[in-house]
Amino acid sequence: MGPPGSGKGTVAEDMRKAMSLHHASTGDMLRQAIAEGHSFSNEVRVYMERGELVPDRLILKLIQDMVDNAAEGSRYLFDGFPRTMVQATAFDQLLAARGSKVDKVFLLDLDRAVLSRRICGRRICRSCGAVYNIHSKKPKTDGVCDVCGGRDLYQRVDDNEDTLNNRLDVYEKQTAELIDFYEKKGVLVRVDAEDRQATREAILKHFQS
Ligand code: AMP
Repeated sequence: MGPPGSGKGTVAEDMRKAMSLHHASTGDMLRQAIAEGHSFSNEVRVYMERGELVPDRLILKLIQDMVDNAAEGSRYLFDGFPRTMVQATAFDQLLAARGSKVDKVFLLDLDRAVLSRRICGRRICRSCGAVYNIHSKKPKTDGVCDVCGGRDLYQRVDDNEDTLNNRLDVYEKQTAELIDFYEKKGVLVRVDAEDRQATREAILKHFQS
């Protein structure tokens, strides 16, 4: 868990590689469903562009399908899920039915001003998905992807100041309860997300313990 721009996706990818986990990002799943023209893509797009949460029933359908298809004994790292109490409690039931549970919840903590620079400066290569930042991680040649040479570095439609403020308000309102829920279960781990390397190391240490 963590606000938009806290580095959930990057950290989750690192953990996937280091710990042989599956990385399940509901944001990526939704963007993919839109790109593929899934039957619910029009409905989903409206929520995402406004920075609002997509209805629980749609998210839970995606998660249910994923859990149903998960191989026995596989381990998943969820990124951006659950985001509401309805999702968290339904997820617990779904996992319990498979004799499984949430082992740990990492909460990435970060200041709002830092988040704004990260999010509004983010640019993504349309060809290969490499991520840049106009403040802190520019490509070597302006507008050209270092990885694949692609010339279309775009800004996600929801990565602007207005949508970000809305996403942060939504995040703070919705997750307060979730933080409490996982804290009471004794599985919540707070991690300072200012420095990405330190964040990765802190999380890795918890996994290894
Ligand atoms: P993310 O890539 O995690 O920042 O998610 C981008 C957008 O996808 C969010 O602002 C929501 O509109 C939607 N979204 C992703 N995950 C969820 C979720 N678990 N519940 C509801 N909406 C979600």
